[in-house]
Amino acid sequence: MTRVLLVSFILLSAPTPGSAAETVADCQLMLQTGRYDDCLKATTAAIANRSYGEEWPILKAQSEMALGKYPEALDSVAAGLERYSWSVRLRLLEYECALANGRRDQAAAALIETERLVSTASWRYTDADDLVALGHVALALGADAKAVQEGFFERARKNYSNRPDGFLAAGRLALTKGDVAFAAELLTPAAKEFPGNPDILFALSESLRTADREQATTLLQKTLEINPNHAPALVQIAEQQIDGEDYEDAGTTIQKLLAVNPNHEEAHGLQSVIHHVRNDLDAAAASRAAALKYSTANPKVDHLIGRKLSQKYRFTEGAAFQRKALEADPDFAAAKIQLAQDLLRLGQEQEGWALAEQAHKADGYDTTLFNLLKLKDSLGKFTTISSEHFQVRMERQEAAIYGPRVLELLEQAWTETTLRYEFTPELPVVVEIYSQAEDFAVRTFGMPDVAGFLGVCFGKVITANSPATRRDSPTNWESVLWHEFCHVVTLQKTDNRMPRWLSEGISVFEERRTDRRWGQHMNAEFRDRILAGKVTPVAELSRAFLTAKSGADMNFAYYESSMVVEHLVTVHGLPALNAILTDLNTGVQINDALGRHTGTLDAFEESFRTYLSEQALTFAIGAEFTTEEFSAAELTSAEKAQQFLEEHPASFPAMLVQASLLIQAGRPDEAEPVLEKLIELVPDDDSTNGPRRLLADIYRNRNQPELEAAMLSEHLLRSADDLESAMRLHVLCEQQKQPERVIELGRAIFAIDPFQTEALLRTVAAAESLGQSDIAVSQLNSLLQLQPDDSARLHFRIATLLRTSDQPASRRHVLLSLEQAPRFRDAHRLLLELANEPAKPPLEN
Ligand SMILES: [Zn+2]
Repeated sequence: MTRVLLVSFILLSAPTPGSAAETVADCQLMLQTGRYDDCLKATTAAIANRSYGEEWPILKAQSEMALGKYPEALDSVAAGLERYSWSVRLRLLEYECALANGRRDQAAAALIETERLVSTASWRYTDADDLVALGHVALALGADAKAVQEGFFERARKNYSNRPDGFLAAGRLALTKGDVAFAAELLTPAAKEFPGNPDILFALSESLRTADREQATTLLQKTLEINPNHAPALVQIAEQQIDGEDYEDAGTTIQKLLAVNPNHEEAHGLQSVIHHVRNDLDAAAASRAAALKYSTANPKVDHLIGRKLSQKYRFTEGAAFQRKALEADPDFAAAKIQLAQDLLRLGQEQEGWALAEQAHKADGYDTTLFNLLKLKDSLGKFTTISSEHFQVRMERQEAAIYGPRVLELLEQAWTETTLRYEFTPELPVVVEIYSQAEDFAVRTFGMPDVAGFLGVCFGKVITANSPATRRDSPTNWESVLWHEFCHVVTLQKTDNRMPRWLSEGISVFEERRTDRRWGQHMNAEFRDRILAGKVTPVAELSRAFLTAKSGADMNFAYYESSMVVEHLVTVHGLPALNAILTDLNTGVQINDALGRHTGTLDAFEESFRTYLSEQALTFAIGAEFTTEEFSAAELTSAEKAQQFLEEHPASFPAMLVQASLLIQAGRPDEAEPVLEKLIELVPDDDSTNGPRRLLADIYRNRNQPELEAAMLSEHLLRSADDLESAMRLHVLCEQQKQPERVIELGRAIFAIDPFQTEALLRTVAAAESLGQSDIAVSQLNSLLQLQPDDSARLHFRIATLLRTSDQPASRRHVLLSLEQAPRFRDAHRLLLELANEPAKPPLEN
């Protein structure tokens, strides 16, 4: 025993005479709190003193493993096994240490030896530690995960509820199979029972990472408070820093890991990822080699590097690393699953699905695979429609309703965007539109419970939610597809070497440029954030996406990024933006590229801040938005609102509340001037419950249809998502006999919700009245899907419209009509007339 330890021992506990050594519990605590050196010294001393117990060599080898002394750890295990040859826990450790040293044969032999031990004396191994060890051995031997959960870990949990081992093992197993819900269910009570166990806190943090990010972060911090050297927690932090493109801090975290364990494989693996992203391929190879120092055929390193690259949307490189991992170990399931997903995202479906199926056969428990294969069934029912540059997969019926418009819109986006960004993407671009939100989430994120995304782009493949999934909160699906297609261009142009903020910024900017109603716009909330100085510096924008704590934060990150792009293009021109994208492709880092093409980054940062502030100030000159006083005032009557307004005459929310209260009180005449004033104060307000909508309601109640229509038109110049307003205006325009407007609004409604039968019928009538047969026919085709019971009449209408322009098609539709209604007289008459007319070839249009 060393002097230091002796001193600390005397200080910390009252020693019993003659016993000057640490107990097993002391050493376990050292290991748990990251004092690996202390633990190694204490266990070495104990073993030298011939202290009895398998715990001593186990703790010694574990501390050596934590310190990266892999050969020494294997020696310690071997020495332990000489004395405790019956120990299955030492055998499991032998397996792990042998793998860390790249000795696969010895690892395999350790498993076989464990099997032999158990088969000769199974009665011996029934306590929690042994059950858990045997479960791990069974898993390593390829046992079914569910059987191990029940046969070993559950038994350990139930028979020894005062021990953490069973909970931890069961939770970790569920985590590796992607079953985060079950993991959280197991670990939540365990974390209460064992609040000082950093491994349990960390595992719980992992299981909550998607469901409750805040709690997960708290748990991660707690883990590190207990054990500042907790390697998995530090790895997680480094991963998050890499995800947030914060490579400098990630490097610091990695150094922390390496200071404790200079051979830490994940630390070197992550360092390799950073070098890779920075385009320093020699350094990347050197770090990878360092990760593989003791175990050259360890598949985990390449799996990790590949997984992180795929998270950066660099799926091609990611897939190549998974293939390397599978070369080292063809049965390594995690690499197979990741490769399957990479390939699906690269559009290499055949191989991707084959791999997923193969992996599922080998492992029936993995949740990601289970979900993926369920998705495959849904996809099997999809149909593919194509145009020159696109392949669109969607449900058969949806394809018949709005598929043609999808293709038309995408081709338009292709023409404009490829021209602007001087880049032609790889063909074909695959677009998948999901009518089930769950299928979309599994396809996109590998799990079913991710909400809040409308569309995602992987570079070559776009996934989107169908408007059918958005009935509760309608959004403009055309703007979503446009946005995603811009990602296709920018991601491919930079070879996926662009920060997230720039990619999102360009997509939103292009949305707004294409249609002023699309994309994010300045609003009261953004204005307040900007004026309060809560703007993320351009140089740190990527972090804004990662650290967003709420939907509002995220929304602002999109908006701010788009304004950076807008400012860049306004001041320096589109060629500067294109030059930046080209630089990124060659491996230049974003802040360097920005500096090169905007003067200096500092100057650009400065001019952007000024520009954004100007935008915020001019958005609502003289208006005052939410203040604490407004929230505290609780304006429940028009009078209270009036009182408040006497002190705060420019309060936008107070005026809006006042107007609503006046309307409710049956005093619309008093509300009207208030609403007019609000419109004047904030002319670009586009909110669905804003002053224009309220004013339109007043006109509607007063039966002033012209005024109502004018007000709704004004509102709809600014909003592309307000289905209700568009539907109401559609009716008004039909009543006011404005067929052109009806057609135009029909298009706007279709872009939000193509399943609105009434709107389609109104548009058809308007198009028929104007003789615009192509529009009428396309809408009637959509209606055929939505109103199959009415198909006789609908086919007849199509036949009538096509009568002069396309007689063969006209005849086909008459026959389809008669098939549904054999006694349909008008149809018979049309058929006869068509038969008597000389056949004309279809007109070109
Ligand atoms: Zn996007």
